[in-house]
Amino acid sequence: MKRQKIPIHLRRKNVVILVLCVLFITFITIEIYKHSPLFVGLTTGTSVKANSIYKIVIDAGHGGKDPGANGASGKEEKEYTLALSKKIYELLKQERMFEPYLTRADDTYVALADRAKFANELGADAFISIHGNTFSDSEVSGTETYYYANSSRQLAYVLHEHLIKAQGFRDRNVRKQDWKVLVYSEVPAVLAEIGYLTNNKEEAAMLDSDGQVRTAQAIVNGLKQYFTQGHVK
Ligand SMILES: [Zn+2]
Repeated sequence: MKRQKIPIHLRRKNVVILVLCVLFITFITIEIYKHSPLFVGLTTGTSVKANSIYKIVIDAGHGGKDPGANGASGKEEKEYTLALSKKIYELLKQERMFEPYLTRADDTYVALADRAKFANELGADAFISIHGNTFSDSEVSGTETYYYANSSRQLAYVLHEHLIKAQGFRDRNVRKQDWKVLVYSEVPAVLAEIGYLTNNKEEAAMLDSDGQVRTAQAIVNGLKQYFTQGHVK
């Protein structure tokens, strides 16, 4: 069978139609997907971070002229928060996916607003403030994890679940509270009241070095889960 030759002007017309079709389909695809998180992430690199390094700010509560709570033994909260924060920092440094920072690495006073500002200016992926709780009734014990912005809620739940499992302290739930350091944070921020320093037994467990490593590892594991799988509930 003899192939019919298509006149050159018709071939050109076909090419023009094809190009217009491709442009039209590309335009429609962009219009449909331009607001999806995946597309935003791919174009700006903010929402989706494939193989990225996550900047984590660990905030040791209190410090310097602000001792925080007095534990059952008389030890000050600022010492506990610094010891635990340093352990979290060291464990995070061993993970390729994390770049950790401390708001204070020694016994110095840092204002609450400056702690949040540090994380904001760094463009941190998470801000975690470490505290030990206190109450007039020494019988009260347990772990409470706080968030303020709804965008921080998921991180609070993931970390809380890991803390409860690792420490075995009473589950006093995730709570929403306008702690200043959380309100000032523009990045996902959580404040963990690890346990009650005013409870004899809990304070001993919190001051124990091995116990601190377990708690630190729980926070690292929680962060890993949060940044790799996201949701737990
Ligand atoms: Zn505190």
